[in-house]
Formats: sequence, structure tokens, C-alpha cells
Amino acid sequence: MTTPLSAHFALEELACTQHREIDNRPPPDVVAVLRSTSARLEEVRRLLGDRVISVSSGYRCPQLNRAVGGARASAHLTGHAVDFNCYSFGDPQAVCRAIAGSDLAFDQLIEEGTWTHVSFDPRMRRQVLTRRAGGGYELGLPS
Ligand SMILES: [Zn+2]
Repeated sequence: MTTPLSAHFALEELACTQHREIDNRPPPDVVAVLRSTSARLEEVRRLLGDRVISVSSGYRCPQLNRAVGGARASAHLTGHAVDFNCYSFGDPQAVCRAIAGSDLAFDQLIEEGTWTHVSFDPRMRRQVLTRRAGGGYELGLPS
């Protein structure tokens, strides 16, 4: 049994973790955020040709965020951020190019190398970043 948040995304998927020892069940206020995050993800899914989106990380409770080395003010803590791949569309660079080139609203879009991070924090800055091979981030996508 799963709890649907939108047509293609379930609560269990957006609060998934491989850290079985951590109770990552989101509180009700976060569930409400995850519902709106899912609605945004549906738009991303449509943009990518209605292909399957594989979520590797969505909501992270503080303990999980620490365990995975997440940023201290990570948008994953509030349920606004999702890490994903859309393998049948292309690699993260192709996915990021498609999203950055669309008119979709987002706060941050990060090409993380082996996945895409997108967040829908209400600031909606439409900031695009690429993870540098040597560490850190640079603005924009490689040309
Ligand atoms: Zn992320």
C-alpha cells in the first residue's frame, strides 16, 4: 500500500531512504509541501515526455540529512527538493538542459553528475548550477 501524492508520485517515494535505521516519515506540514512538490514534479515529468522519473531522495529528516552529508539548509529538509533521474530521457545534463530551457518554475536546478536536484522552494529563483568534478558548484550548465 502506498499513499498517492499526485498521479505518478507516492508519499513513500518522496520520503524514501536506504537508511533503514532512520525513521524518515514526514510530519503533516511536510506532507503538505510534498503534495505541492509532486504537482511540480508532474510538470517536469510532462516536460520530459511523460517518461518515468526515478526519485532517489526527496524529504530528509534532520538525522537523514546529516547521514547523507546534505547541506545544513538543504531544501530536502522542508520537502521542497527532489533528486531524480529520467533514464529514458537522457543523462542529468540533458534533463537539466530541458528544464532550464523550459518555462517551468523552480528555485534551484543542479546537475549533480549522476542525478538531477530540483527544488521548488517558494523563492523560485530559477538558479541553475553544475557540480564541479573537484568539488563545489558553478553557475549555469556547461556549454
Ligand atoms: Zn538534492
